[in-house]
Amino acid sequence: MLALLACLAAFAAAGAAEVPLRAGWLAAQPGQTAADVFRPEAADRFQRFDPATLGSFPRNPDGVWVRLTPALGIWPQEPMVLEVPAPPLGAARLYRSDGEAPQRTGTAGAAVGGLQGHGRFAFRLTRPLPPGGVLLLYFEPYPTAFNGVRIHLRPLEEFFVRDTGWLAFASVCFATMATMALVALVFGLVLGDATFHFYSGYLLGYALLLAIQTGFAFHPLGLGFIAPAPSAWGRTALTVSTICFVQFLSRFTRLEQYSALLRRLIGLLSWAMSGLLALSLVPAEAAHAATRALINPVLLAGSVLALVCSVYAAYRGSRYAVYFLAGWTPLLGVTALGSAQALGVLSDWVWLDDGNLAAGAYESVALSIGLAARILTVRRERDRATAVADRDSLTGVLNRRGWTARLEELLRSESRGGRGLAVMFVDIDHFKSLNDCFGHDEGDLALKKVAACLARHLRPGDILGRYGGEEFVAILPGSGDEQALAVGERVRAAVEDLAIANDTAGGKLTASVGIAIRQAGEGVATLTGRADHAMYAAKRAGRNRVVLAPAPERIAVVA
Ligand code: GH3
Ligand code: MG
Ligand code: MG
Repeated sequence: MLALLACLAAFAAAGAAEVPLRAGWLAAQPGQTAADVFRPEAADRFQRFDPATLGSFPRNPDGVWVRLTPALGIWPQEPMVLEVPAPPLGAARLYRSDGEAPQRTGTAGAAVGGLQGHGRFAFRLTRPLPPGGVLLLYFEPYPTAFNGVRIHLRPLEEFFVRDTGWLAFASVCFATMATMALVALVFGLVLGDATFHFYSGYLLGYALLLAIQTGFAFHPLGLGFIAPAPSAWGRTALTVSTICFVQFLSRFTRLEQYSALLRRLIGLLSWAMSGLLALSLVPAEAAHAATRALINPVLLAGSVLALVCSVYAAYRGSRYAVYFLAGWTPLLGVTALGSAQALGVLSDWVWLDDGNLAAGAYESVALSIGLAARILTVRRERDRATAVADRDSLTGVLNRRGWTARLEELLRSESRGGRGLAVMFVDIDHFKSLNDCFGHDEGDLALKKVAACLARHLRPGDILGRYGGEEFVAILPGSGDEQALAVGERVRAAVEDLAIANDTAGGKLTASVGIAIRQAGEGVATLTGRADHAMYAAKRAGRNRVVLAPAPERIAVVA
C-alpha cells in the first residue's frame, strides 16, 4: 500500500516542463464545426477555467469545445503532447488553427492520427503552432457523469515517462485485484463457502468497472467486445459488484447475528441497483436520464448504510467487521473525495484520479487477510469441536471414537512402511464389586486414577483411550513382542501398586492386559479383536496378568 501511495505521489507531482495553458469552454451546438468555433468573434463566448486543476463544465448533448492558447503567449518549439489524464468515458478530437489534420482519440476506440495514451487522452503536436495559433479540443457527447477534466501540455518524452509509469501502476493494481479474486474463488470452491464467491464477484465487478472507466480494458487489455457499449458494460459491472458487495458484507461481518433490520435494509441496495440496471435498459431518453440522476444518490445512500452496518457490527463485537472497515474505508474515502471534486472542491488533489485504483488494490489485499482469518477461525472451531467429540469426559483420555480414528490413521501410515505397532487392552478386574461395595462415585474416582496411572506408565508416543466402561486401550507404536509385553507388565504392576480397595474383604484393584502385535495388512477390527481376546484369555487364566495374542494364522488353524 505504501508503495502504491508513493507511486501515486510521484505521478501527481507536476511535470517541471509543463507548458501553462489558458483555457475556456463552450457548449457545442448542433451542426457546429471547428471552423465556426475558430472564428475570432467566437473567442469571447468561451468561459475561462483553469485546465491544470479539474475544470468542470455542464453535460451538453452536443459536446463541449475547449479553446487552448499558451498562457505565456508563445507555443513551444519542441515536440509536445496535449494530455487529458483520467478522461471521461468517451472520445475527444483536437483541431489546430493552422489547418493540420484533426486527431481523435477515445477511451474505447483506437486513436486516429494521434497517440494512444493509457489512462489518458493524448494528442501529438509534432510541429509547433504558429504565433497566435489556437488549439480546439472537442469533447464528444459522453454517456456518463462528468466530473471535470484536466488538460496538460508536456514535452513528448515526459508524456512517455508518465504514460508507461501509469501503465505499470495500473497493471500492478489490476493484477492484485484479479489475483485476490481468483484466490478467493478457489478457496470458496474448496471450502464450499459462498462468502468467498461473493467477495470474488465484488472484486472482479469493481475491477472491470475501473478498467472500463480508465480505458485499461481497451488499452492495453484489448477487450474489444466491450467497446461497442462500454457504459452498458460499466453499469452491469457496477450492479454485479454492488450485489456481491452487499452479500459479502452481510456474510463476512455476520450482520444477521447483530441486526436483522440492518441486514434487510442493506439488502434493499441490491434491489435498487438491479432496478436501476433494468431501467437503464429501457430504450427511452427519459429512462436513461432517470438512471443517471438516481445512480449516485443510491450509491451514496448504500455506502452510508454499509458504513453504518459495519460500524454497528464492529461495535457489537464482530472482529470481521473491523477487518472490513480497515479494508474498505480507504476506498470509500477516495470515492467520497472524488464525488466532492465533482462539486468543485479539492480540485487540486489530482492524485485522486488514480486513488480508487490504489485503494481498490489495497482493499483486495486487506480483505483477503480478513478472509484468511475467517478460514483460521472456522478451522479452530472445528478442531475444538473435534477435540471435545474425541475426549472421554470422565477421564480426559481419548474416547473410543477418537482412539479408533488415531489407530486408523496410524495403520494407514504403517501400510506405507512403518516400524510396526501393538494394541493393548486393559480391563479392570471385578470392577463391579468396587461399585457395589463403595458406590458409583468411588468407582468413577478409581477409573480416573487408573486412567492417570496408565498415562504415566505408557511411553510418550503411546496413545491411550477409554474403550468403554472399565476397559482401556493403548496403541504402542514401534513395538514388537518384547517391548509390548514390557509395557503391559509395567502397566499391570502400576495399577496393582495404586492399592485401590476393590472390596470390603481387602482385595486390591487389579487389571488384566491383552496385547496383539499388528500383522502385515491387518485392519483395526481384527487387531483390536485379537487384543480383546488376549485380555479375556488373561481373565480366564486368573486375572491380574498380561497375555500376548497369537498371530492370526495360528488362530485360524486352531479354529
Ligand atoms: P471382570 O473382571 O470380568 O472384568 O469383571 P467386572 O466386574 O470388571 O466386569 P463387568 O463387565 O461385569 O462389570 C463392569 C462394571 O463396570 C459394570 C459397570 O457398572 C461398571 N462401570 C462401567 N462404566 C462405569 C463408569 O463410568 N463408572 C462406574 N463407577 N462404573 C462403571
Ligand atoms: Mg469389561
Ligand atoms: Mg472388568
